[in-house]
Amino acid sequence: MGKRSDRRGSSTRSVHGGEREHSLADSVTTPIFQTSTFWFRDSEELRAYQEGRIAREEYGRYGNPTWKAVERKLCELEGGEAAVLFASGMCAATTLFLALLPRGSHLIVTSDCYRRTRQFIQEYLTRCGVETTVIEAADTDALASAIRDETALFFTEAPTNPYLRVIDVASAVEIARARGVQTVIDSTFASPISMRPLEAGADYVLHSATKYLAGHNDLLAGAIVGSARAIEPVRKAVGVLGGILDPHAAWLLLRGLKTLALRMERHNATALRIAEWLENHPSVRKVWYPGLASHPDHATATRIMQGFGGVVTFELETDLDGAIRFTDACRLPYIAPSLGGVESLIEMPALMSYWDLEREERLKLGITDSLIRYSCGVEDADDLIADLEQAIAAI
Ligand code: PLP
Repeated sequence: MGKRSDRRGSSTRSVHGGEREHSLADSVTTPIFQTSTFWFRDSEELRAYQEGRIAREEYGRYGNPTWKAVERKLCELEGGEAAVLFASGMCAATTLFLALLPRGSHLIVTSDCYRRTRQFIQEYLTRCGVETTVIEAADTDALASAIRDETALFFTEAPTNPYLRVIDVASAVEIARARGVQTVIDSTFASPISMRPLEAGADYVLHSATKYLAGHNDLLAGAIVGSARAIEPVRKAVGVLGGILDPHAAWLLLRGLKTLALRMERHNATALRIAEWLENHPSVRKVWYPGLASHPDHATATRIMQGFGGVVTFELETDLDGAIRFTDACRLPYIAPSLGGVESLIEMPALMSYWDLEREERLKLGITDSLIRYSCGVEDADDLIADLEQAIAAI
């Protein structure tokens, strides 16, 4: 991570990575292989396949050529050897946990974390006899103290959701690896354009491909990338658990990925401008954006990221009703969960993802009444700022 190796640039890899390997009618784009299964000419071909003498597809839960193009492109972008696609980011996380955490093992996760990942760990992994320790986000000393003999995995987002905390991935990996613990980085908020955890030694990088990778707010998908050896048990697990990506969605993801570097350039630049603008506004109490010197992980983020992502989290100098008036007055972003698409999206975590919790419980998790998560799309930054300005006036 950080160093740009001798490989081609990120836009070239976004466009060309993983392509040109099909031979159907010489089409420039990879076809959608919209099929559930693949036929064998005769039993001899089946036998050759079973004995590993020929490589080909068998059944749609185990492989599909459209997926494979996406997987190759993700490997090029992340610097991995193998990748697996899933029906959603949650499916990627749950499959990975089930594949890698045997009964009696121990998991370490960080406090600032996507709500449903946290829920899976608390409500479902415990039933599988897996114990979990939650540590403060980005705290490598806490990671070192939390590791036990049974610890199998350290899982963290980088940047985290919603406070955009950024752990020093290389240091975390060093601490974990020295004790035989594998590291998983959910890098959804960064994308491989802004951060490449595998190059810092992480064993797995996970994405909700629903977000920046697909980039158009039009599909759900998940992905995990790593070494061929690391990916093997995860691929085996998805073939059994079955949370695979439909070929048409895989093709849309492939198309979205071609503009990933281009889009990230705009997301990163716009978010930095908006964060700086918000920080100087008297009606804004606090802004969290790793590109700002005021962010607790600014130094780490500056060292390990190229661009800080398109999400800005901020707290308005108002109460719940004032924050609602502000959100409703915004004309450009849609009020919607999710992030990372071309359309800007805005959400109040207190009303959206944490609505079902009592206010006291929300506050314990750091979800205050006037907290806003703003996902910058690719609209003109001037227009987004003008829109925010008139909406803040409505508080
Ligand atoms: N990881 C992060 C950091 C997320 O923000 C999300 C969803 O918002 C997920 C995982 C889950 O992804 P999906 O919605 O594609 O299941």
